[in-house]
Amino acid sequence: MRGWFQRFMSGRYGYDRFNRFLSIASLVLFVAGLLFSPLLYWLGILTLGYCYFRMLSRNIQKRYQENAKYMALENKASGWFSTRRIRFKQRGQYRYFRCPHCRQELRVPRGKGRISITCPKCGTQFVKKS
Ligand SMILES: [Zn+2]
Repeated sequence: MRGWFQRFMSGRYGYDRFNRFLSIASLVLFVAGLLFSPLLYWLGILTLGYCYFRMLSRNIQKRYQENAKYMALENKASGWFSTRRIRFKQRGQYRYFRCPHCRQELRVPRGKGRISITCPKCGTQFVKKS
């Protein structure tokens, strides 16, 4: 049985982070589908189908590229969340503004009244209440 499975899987792509995400997502969709709408349930089946398709695929390079794209997205999302977490922890000490000219984000100490802020990136000055 084990040998048969190994032979079956040889040359196929197998499991990666993107497939892990897909299998978790399909589980969430199944549960959401049972609670809310059968449409979500079918979306879950499609997601699981796609997960199996990727696992059994012989086009390893294509699947590898998909995973790389997914990993880049995942890193971006986790970076966004960790920035938000740090800001929430520091909300008593700092305020955040965006430069009106170049959209650069700036951090200033809180509670200093109206202050003139100079953007370190483009040199634009603007006045904000800290
Ligand atoms: Zn700027």
